[in-house]
Amino acid sequence: MRGEILRAWASLIRDNSEELAVLVTVEQGKPLAEARYEIGYGAGFIDWFAAEGERTYGETIPSHKPASLLHVRKQPIGVAAAITPWNFPVAMITRKAGAALAAGCPIIVKPAPETPLSALAVARLGEEAGLPPGVFQVLVGDPIALSEPLLRDTRVRALSFTGSTQVGRLLLGGAAETVKKVSLELGGHAPFLVFDDVDVEKAVKGAMAAKFATSGQDCLAANRIYVQRGIYGAFAEAFASELARLKVGHGLEPATDIGPMTKLSVANKCRVHIDDAAAKGAQVITAKQDDNLGPNFVSPTLLTDVTDGMLIAREETFGPVAAILPFDSEEEVLARANASEMGLAAYVYTDSLRRALRVSEKIECGMVGVNSASFTGPPIPFGGWKQSGLGREGARQGIDEYMELKYVCFGDL
Ligand code: NAD
Repeated sequence: MRGEILRAWASLIRDNSEELAVLVTVEQGKPLAEARYEIGYGAGFIDWFAAEGERTYGETIPSHKPASLLHVRKQPIGVAAAITPWNFPVAMITRKAGAALAAGCPIIVKPAPETPLSALAVARLGEEAGLPPGVFQVLVGDPIALSEPLLRDTRVRALSFTGSTQVGRLLLGGAAETVKKVSLELGGHAPFLVFDDVDVEKAVKGAMAAKFATSGQDCLAANRIYVQRGIYGAFAEAFASELARLKVGHGLEPATDIGPMTKLSVANKCRVHIDDAAAKGAQVITAKQDDNLGPNFVSPTLLTDVTDGMLIAREETFGPVAAILPFDSEEEVLARANASEMGLAAYVYTDSLRRALRVSEKIECGMVGVNSASFTGPPIPFGGWKQSGLGREGARQGIDEYMELKYVCFGDL
């Protein structure tokens, strides 16, 4: 029954894909093609968990006691709360709500103040699909005023958050008082490693995709592109010519590759990273755009000769600014890639299978794309190591964030 309603919800989202995509573009800014992709991606999580909910069976443990039977069951944890970001205003909601509802938990979602309408539109379709009143609620308004009661309330047993590490830390602390089960998907600062045995053109294509998707406002965005010295010049040159083709503009214009930054603070952070790198000796190459677009628009920018001391090499940018850093050896680049408190995703481009296996083992993060710039989707366990987060979303594991285990011992049989 739960599965049927969830599948009906996913179908309604797909049936209304065009209207939802336009709403996402107008609210969030991303190009319409990316918004359309997000709607399909978002509906996919609901379908995935509709099926996964049918497989939440437990275990029978071979007993260590005579005349007894040992069972482990999975049961819904209770009411869940979700605090979601503005960069994927539909998919970050369905990834959490699909899992919670399939597990049997009602969920209260507090979307980002920048993108409330996408959340409400998805909720409206949930109602139409037959979600019982109250099991999926959306709270729109001041983040602190809305989240504090959710944190305090002992009936809220699980909290799932996607957003900045700074707010994630606050929420983890806030949830401690009532000992909630917390899952966090926080910032990234992805290293993108390009070894000198690769086809430069393919690696540039991958780096462009990993950097400029969602106009760079993506926690998986390649923030530090390390290129082995032998191909550094060729890579930078090819990257610059691809960059020159990118068109900045309104998301509803068909030619647009890069939309406005959703928040002015994100656009300003891009400028700070560019200015800091330039002041410390980086070369700045910018794809020239119309200067009159407004302060939320950032021209796609390539920074070459970036060094580890520059801000962009130390923290997530979250915008269309690509930093390329040279390296000499595998050992050196691994040490530099791992010298971060963030550990969400990494990318490795190499033609050597041995190296791919070694590097993917040693890199400290939750997700690695080997010769692959795009690897997300409902079947994969999405999440990070270190201060990039706690827990996993999507996949077989995602539903467990909303379930408790119960061990039952039947004795005296
Ligand atoms: P944020 O963490 O402030 O916002 C994310 C969500 O948290 C929103 O719903 C917001 O309303 C809510 N929030 C903010 N402060 C809160 C508080 N004190 N209590 C409860 N909820 C609160 O993120 P931001 O400022 O919009 O973006 C800043 C940076 O965060 C970005 O530049 C990026 O580095 C990171 N970010 C990451 C993701 C991701 O996908 N992991 C998404 C958005 C932002």
